[in-house]
Amino acid sequence: MRLAVPLRASMLAATLLLPLAACQKPAPQTVAPPTASEVPAMPAHDVNSYAEPEHVVVKHLALDLTVDFERKVLEGAATLDLDWKDAASRQLVLDTRDLAIAKVEGGDGATWQELKYALAPRDAILGSKLAIELPAQLPKVRISYSSSPQASGLQWLTPAMTLGKKTPFMFSQSEAIHARSWVPLQDTPGVRFTYEAHITTPKNVMAVMSADNDPKAPRDGDYSFTMPQAIPSYLMAIAAGDLVFRPINERAGVWAEPAMADKAAKEFEDTGKMIDTAEQLYGPYRWGRYDILVLPPSFPFGGMENPRLTFATPTVIVGDKSLVSLIAHELAHSWSGNLVTNSSWKDIWLNEGFTTYVQDRIVESLYGVEASDMEKVIARHGLAEEMKDIKPDDQLLALAPLTGRDPDEALTSVAYIKGQWFLTFLEDRYGRAVFDPFLRKWFDDHAFTSTDSAEFERFLDAELVAKNPGKATAAELHAWLHEPGIPAFASAASSKRFDAVDEARGHWLAGHAAATDLDTAKWTTQEWVHFIEGMPETLSVAQIQSLNDAFHFTGSANGEIAQRWYPLTIRSGDLSARPAIAAFLARIGRRKLIMPTYGELAKTPDGLAFARAVFAKARPGLHPITIVSVEAALADKPPAKP
Ligand SMILES: [Zn+2]
Repeated sequence: MRLAVPLRASMLAATLLLPLAACQKPAPQTVAPPTASEVPAMPAHDVNSYAEPEHVVVKHLALDLTVDFERKVLEGAATLDLDWKDAASRQLVLDTRDLAIAKVEGGDGATWQELKYALAPRDAILGSKLAIELPAQLPKVRISYSSSPQASGLQWLTPAMTLGKKTPFMFSQSEAIHARSWVPLQDTPGVRFTYEAHITTPKNVMAVMSADNDPKAPRDGDYSFTMPQAIPSYLMAIAAGDLVFRPINERAGVWAEPAMADKAAKEFEDTGKMIDTAEQLYGPYRWGRYDILVLPPSFPFGGMENPRLTFATPTVIVGDKSLVSLIAHELAHSWSGNLVTNSSWKDIWLNEGFTTYVQDRIVESLYGVEASDMEKVIARHGLAEEMKDIKPDDQLLALAPLTGRDPDEALTSVAYIKGQWFLTFLEDRYGRAVFDPFLRKWFDDHAFTSTDSAEFERFLDAELVAKNPGKATAAELHAWLHEPGIPAFASAASSKRFDAVDEARGHWLAGHAAATDLDTAKWTTQEWVHFIEGMPETLSVAQIQSLNDAFHFTGSANGEIAQRWYPLTIRSGDLSARPAIAAFLARIGRRKLIMPTYGELAKTPDGLAFARAVFAKARPGLHPITIVSVEAALADKPPAKP
């Protein structure tokens, strides 16, 4: 997933729910010993799931669902194939959230018997535990159910909320623990399963899934999918709407609304080269096709690495490919994450940190060192800013179990950017000739498994440190993994092109040059971002207006620029951007882009009133995940800083 978590919202949950976390130590993990036939070991217990994979594991899922746009529900049945681990067990425990369970049956696929079950009261974070009693260790359980219109993992868009305005649209976002709001599952990244699905939609609607999408499938409302590679539940994904396909090359393409399809295929035309580059570094792409689904602007994230079908925000389609590192990121997850997953959410840096590192290697290879340098500087600047509001325990890569916490709200840039920085440190110390094969071996040795930080440390020690002595000390590795902040010995990122931007900004601030005289003709998004980020905390209203007259930031279609420019205008007391801010917040649902502006508005009573009025209008078009974040930012009492 590609996101920057809104600070206030993330800290709200963390602060309210876990006041004592600061002195918690990781609980010892219970790992059942591996059996001879079972490699890898059983997953460690995941505190964000009710599932008990030590007793029984779901190996395969068969879905038969109808997409009902009128009622905003998915309705049908999920059949689970079970692999019993504990001879004494007669119970299957699943995760659900807001599901209406109609019937539970057990059997062998040919004959079925109705089973007793208990659906526990809803926990605010975990949802409702579904405990199914079995008379014997039956091979299959079938659950007939429907999702709720408020399902946290689904968004339903009316035709008016789409680009084409004619056809409704729905899509899922299962990471971290939202799959349970549309499928009853062992909703933990520690369990992997294969799946097949039969999806029924209105006849004019095209359905796609994180599975084998056939670009030539007839649009008839009746779709079948198979996913032969075992995936964790957070990679379950579905979308349905007026979608058409455009090929990029023989194994990559774009699904989008018709009005967006050609533009998206053009912007993402380097995807084939990205796959080739990643394969040269880390071995074959193991998932068949790689397609990209372009979602409506209300998608709360930048992208989601649903296997075979990345879900992507349209906000990165800016016409000059300057934001396609998003695709490099989601593609990189085909190795780091989808292939080798964190077994519980505390170790998500294994997923996002590795991915951010691989993404950067792809960007460097395709677009050059300067592009990679600029992205690193921006990312580390963002991390430094975010770190000010992250309590020390959450600044570690290897986090304590997220007991009592929503993994969405515990996720910060630390996992992404500090994780990447650590791997870059290892690369610097050991050199690419050693480090690249090491990383490839990590992916190969752990392919299609779920793992944790302790296993990475073991592997690091055995495969890199012990074989290449004298390059990094135990204290240095400990600092990266188990200590807050960025180690003092970490090397900073720098960018020559940003040096030129700094010089231009300095001239303008000193009054030595007019904004219109600055040499900005060849600047890309990254340079504009750096130009704005380097401004003083506030400018005079006259300065804001001279910048805007020269560069037309207000109303920019580029969300990376808008998300930095609007807060600067607000801090500077310039009200002229307000109509454009209202339009921006109404149009975009990607949290990273809109939360800084909401956060800045919330700092003054007048700004807060304006933000609340804008949010009230935007809310019906926003994803549930975004709504939670904005509500937290606009709450009566902003959360106290840790
Ligand atoms: Zn990611």
